[in-house]
Amino acid sequence: MNYIDEKVAPKREERLGACIEFGGAACELKRKFGGGCLKNSSRAFGQGSICQLLPGTAILNSIPDSVVIVHGSIGCGGGGHSHNANIRWRQTLGGSQNPRGAFWISTNLNERDVVSGGEEKLEEAILEADRRYRPASIIVVSSCVPGIIGDDIDSVAARLQPQVKGKILPVHCEGFKTKIMATAYDAVYHSIARNLLETEEKEGAEIFPDELKEAQKKLRQSKLVNLLNVSSMTPLDEKELTRLLNALGLEVKIYPCFAHPQDMKYATQAALSISTCPTHDDYLVKYLEERFGVPYILRHMPIGINNTNLWLRDIAKIFGLEEAAERIIQRETAELGEALSLIRNNLAGKKAMLSAGEVRTFATAVWLQELGLDIVAVRPYHYDEFGEIDLEKLSNVNPGLQVNVATVHPFETVNLIERNRPDIYLGHNSDNIWAAKQGIPVLPIYGGPNTYVGYVGAFDIARRINRILKNPSFNRKLKGNTRQPYYESWYKEEPYQFLTEGSVQG
Ligand code: SF4
Repeated sequence: MNYIDEKVAPKREERLGACIEFGGAACELKRKFGGGCLKNSSRAFGQGSICQLLPGTAILNSIPDSVVIVHGSIGCGGGGHSHNANIRWRQTLGGSQNPRGAFWISTNLNERDVVSGGEEKLEEAILEADRRYRPASIIVVSSCVPGIIGDDIDSVAARLQPQVKGKILPVHCEGFKTKIMATAYDAVYHSIARNLLETEEKEGAEIFPDELKEAQKKLRQSKLVNLLNVSSMTPLDEKELTRLLNALGLEVKIYPCFAHPQDMKYATQAALSISTCPTHDDYLVKYLEERFGVPYILRHMPIGINNTNLWLRDIAKIFGLEEAAERIIQRETAELGEALSLIRNNLAGKKAMLSAGEVRTFATAVWLQELGLDIVAVRPYHYDEFGEIDLEKLSNVNPGLQVNVATVHPFETVNLIERNRPDIYLGHNSDNIWAAKQGIPVLPIYGGPNTYVGYVGAFDIARRINRILKNPSFNRKLKGNTRQPYYESWYKEEPYQFLTEGSVQG
């Protein structure tokens, strides 16, 4: 079922029954999620989370020839300052001598606007963005305030569309509406699907007139595939996956990050949509199949050798390229086997703890398990059906593995770290900072000029952990010279005591 005819994408709590509060064993999470017991779980106390506007703007700010208008109070969208570093870097890699970064502005709603409405300011901002930059798209991101006071950003967009050059994209990212920040991926895809996939020529005509069908057939024969990236792949990740897909004889186009708004429509004509992270992409790939007949692959995140093998085999099967895939797998795994042999000895038995989005956390943990590390706890930001495959692999090895479903909440992080004292912590900065202060060596689980996916990524993750573990003295000294943010007494308390009954193992 698709929701594209609705103005707003549903939140993930409703669409997928996704859960965001759990603490206990992996086998218990499987049982309780399957039984629907986690739908009404909650935290009596929370401490820091991530609003969906952050991942939403991370994607939208990357779209070239566009202006992002954050419709809200001045602080919303401030993450754009950090997105800009990445965007400038990508523009430099793309050959720009003068990387401009993203163009984003705020409607800066204040107390008066809360009373009298913010639509007037939004109109001004859209016209000003068009006058100054003449972009191909003007992206209006709605935050909490307009969501609460009832500004109708879709009506404003429809009213002003004839007056501006670019396509206006309303995106509903009101932070208060969902606790699951992954809803942002649906919100962004929702607006892209409503505004950028249907070409002008098709309006009022059949969905697939003969010429379009013919063009689509040719593109399919040329083995053109959509590779989806919602800011969860570094440029080196994109390079690695493109290398593997090219080796299968496939042509690759990457959406939506860094794809021009006018090029998004070509996603409807590809032979296949390939997800790099199932929890990111189901909303769009299912719509592309339902509306445009583009099949999709949405099962594995290609992190680690086995998951990359499975990902590649799924893709090859669609095109009848199984033999070619096996040749690639054999060659790559043989080379990796040799390169990893020394590293495996060093990593065997080391304890690791991980935190990030659900599929990245689980897939990376599976790879570390294959490398011989002992996974003591995983902290996915949320949990839904897309995490089931890799959670199964982890719980097959260790049914009692601690799983703490939490978007950040550092008080639970530090408690679990102190109980388990891992040798290494892999997470985003919002978690790694706590582990580092507790004397644990950390590795960013994503980002920077590194490769995380495919065979190159499998080696890179192992190589970097090996290097970090050889000399953990920086973090040991950091602990000795840093004031710890929590009292010792907290570490003796139950980490999950603020989760409501029904979500705690017991
Ligand atoms: S929670 Fe609401 S007010 Fe806060 S940053 Fe997100 S959208 Fe803005």
